[in-house]
Amino acid sequence: MDDLPRIVHLDADAFFVACEQARDPSLVGKRCAVGGTERGIISSASYEARALGVYTPMPTASARRICPDLIMIPHTPGLYGKVSRQMFDLSEELTPDVQRNSVDEGYLDLGACRHPSLGAIEAAVWGLQKRIQEQLGIPVSMGIASNKLVAQIASKLRKPRGFVVVRPGEEGAFLSPLAIGRLPGIGAKTEGELAKRGIRLVSDLFTRTDDELAAAFGRSWRSVLALARGEDSSPVETERDDAKSYSKQETFFTDVSEFAQVEGVAKRMLDELMPKVRADGMTVRTITVKIRYPDFTHESHGRSLESSTSIEAPFYPLIGPLLKAAWKKKRPLRLVSVRLSGVEGGRTQLEMFSEADDKRRKLAGIVDRLNRGGNEAVVVHGHQLRPKAPGNRKRDTN
Ligand SMILES: [Mg+2]
Repeated sequence: MDDLPRIVHLDADAFFVACEQARDPSLVGKRCAVGGTERGIISSASYEARALGVYTPMPTASARRICPDLIMIPHTPGLYGKVSRQMFDLSEELTPDVQRNSVDEGYLDLGACRHPSLGAIEAAVWGLQKRIQEQLGIPVSMGIASNKLVAQIASKLRKPRGFVVVRPGEEGAFLSPLAIGRLPGIGAKTEGELAKRGIRLVSDLFTRTDDELAAAFGRSWRSVLALARGEDSSPVETERDDAKSYSKQETFFTDVSEFAQVEGVAKRMLDELMPKVRADGMTVRTITVKIRYPDFTHESHGRSLESSTSIEAPFYPLIGPLLKAAWKKKRPLRLVSVRLSGVEGGRTQLEMFSEADDKRRKLAGIVDRLNRGGNEAVVVHGHQLRPKAPGNRKRDTN
């Protein structure tokens, strides 16, 4: 097994502000922010402004109150996308396996580069950090680890210009002393509720019983525990992988801010994609939900199943949490997309279905055939195919 960390998370520091500062160096070192200059919100604040408590997304009016000399910079159309492309182009000079996760964040898989030592990996990543700073004027933070989850937490730990390396096998030791809010999906509100239960650090999870964890996190407690241990097997997904995926996107007529509505659209997309997967005789393993804001910044989050599948059911419970993880800014959305990847092929693929899954798969096949036949009376979507509650289920007596 490879004992070198080969996954990098690259995260630009105060990206929009950095783009503006690269264009106008007189802004460097100033309390400044990009965003709505009159009404509206702050979309990126310089570290000098953050020191006074300006954060994203804060209403501009509040930011001006706590930081009266704040220089407000309006969005420059086209600038951030251009600098972002240049930043990722530089990254692709290091490895072809780059996942552009959002305008200022991405993952690099160095596996194909075959660096012989940790020192060689560090030198290569440090070189990229330096090139992005020198050629584009953009400070970035780097996290290097054996998977995406840990690399992402590492890159955010020592901003700005962070450079944090976690060796394989040291994920638990690295995460343990961190605040629980460093784990993805645990926002300030949840963090506050957990503090009431005495859970403040990641390590606090390891001293709790299963029952206590279930009380604190509900049904998702096992996945939270896996996160706390630094377990993540999701692959770095490059643009090239798009050829081998099933995806759908929808641009909203007017921007949408209601979670349930977007979640419903995403579930419907899954309902539309899986029949294609089945018709091709394929299975898929990874689902990625991507959202885009009206200013074209975007964010995506994905999860992989333990084994690939051709049915909807295992993906449904992931859609809500993935959407929540991607839709961090409390702003309306312009677009949502769902992508299924990790495509494995052929009807010969042996799938390990539980009995319930097997029933769902057969039922899904029947519904697909009926829907294909244009029988409009039968429009059943997978997420409506819920197993009956245990109380209603006929008891198996033999
Ligand atoms: Mg950033």
